[in-house]
Amino acid sequence: MNFFLERSELRDLYEKVVANQRISEADAVRLFQTKDLNAFGAIADFVCRRKNRDRASYIINRYINYSNYCILSCQFCAFARKKRDADGFQYTVEEIVQKAREALALGITELHIVGGLHPSLPFNYYLEMLRALKALDPRLQLKCFTAIEVLHLAWLARKPVPETLQELRDAGLNSLTGGGAEIFRKSIRSAIAKGKESAEEYLDVHRTWHRLGGRSTCTMLYGHIESIEDRVDHLRQLRDLQDETRGFTGFVPLPYQPENNAIPVKKPPTGFDSLRTIAVSRIFLDNFDHITAYWVGMGLKLAQVALSYGADDLHGTIVQEKIFHMAGATSPQLQTENEMVKAIREAGRVPVQRNTFYEPIKEWPANGAVSPEAPPGRTAVLEGNLATA
Ligand code: SF4
Repeated sequence: MNFFLERSELRDLYEKVVANQRISEADAVRLFQTKDLNAFGAIADFVCRRKNRDRASYIINRYINYSNYCILSCQFCAFARKKRDADGFQYTVEEIVQKAREALALGITELHIVGGLHPSLPFNYYLEMLRALKALDPRLQLKCFTAIEVLHLAWLARKPVPETLQELRDAGLNSLTGGGAEIFRKSIRSAIAKGKESAEEYLDVHRTWHRLGGRSTCTMLYGHIESIEDRVDHLRQLRDLQDETRGFTGFVPLPYQPENNAIPVKKPPTGFDSLRTIAVSRIFLDNFDHITAYWVGMGLKLAQVALSYGADDLHGTIVQEKIFHMAGATSPQLQTENEMVKAIREAGRVPVQRNTFYEPIKEWPANGAVSPEAPPGRTAVLEGNLATA
């Protein structure tokens, strides 16, 4: 048994996990309440290694926000703008294609595209965008739209959600993003994102997409006004849907950024809280293969540490991230592939470049130079973040 667990108050939970027994919501609350960092880290690391051995992944991708105009005004959002605002923007399909073309030259395998709920763009704009991007390179994986954007697009198309999703899929959509989950419990949700789709609607869009054969990620925005019980309730609802569909490829906990919004929280979640949230997620979500340490919100240094606390993925390398930074994130705007590989190696893991579905593209040797094939400046490019919309 791990040294840290021998005398730990969490020893019974470790034994449960080793025996492949599912932990309960009460167990998860206990994990969230403990201060025994090394003990919950050891349990989460055990689960992570059982699922992913010593591999840890990253993706070369670019985020594009097609627009920050939004008809809603979620209280936590520092990204959305109204048409009267001087710093609102929207890109034409041609401008998006140009950004994608430039990013393809850098070696991206995925475009991650989200935006606000635009007041006037027609449904056809979104279809044309997908078709034009697929025409650039059919191998480029398009991970686009949050659940609430899908509901907005269904409203624009005047079609039921399944037909809307099918049409988007026919146009080139490969995966839905996980943004918009925030916190499911109604009392918290209405305090931070009034007017947004309900938890049931969020889950139902993903359920429908999964039933069509699609895959998606999911998220949780933590560290604002929610309680530990609210977090566990959120995780339980995700675990339930995963039991039903098996359609989630990974879970991405998103640390709340406190600036430029209307939620009265002075500081973002601490490092301890972020490690604990990742660890509890890893242990509780026993039917998820992958947990991401989202370095844009946590910083790369803490995300690297999180690889020993249950995370097996660092997400992408990033340029021009807008939304976390508009909300106060102080992380840099990009990481090179070299930096990601180095961070993973230092943490004692084997770096793996992955695709949208967490399938390996390339496994790096455990030691040595990154590769002559990978120029030092090679980056993935992102604009925006998973919390948008
Ligand atoms: S979080 Fe999304 S839906 Fe809410 S205001 Fe911001 S862009 Fe609009």
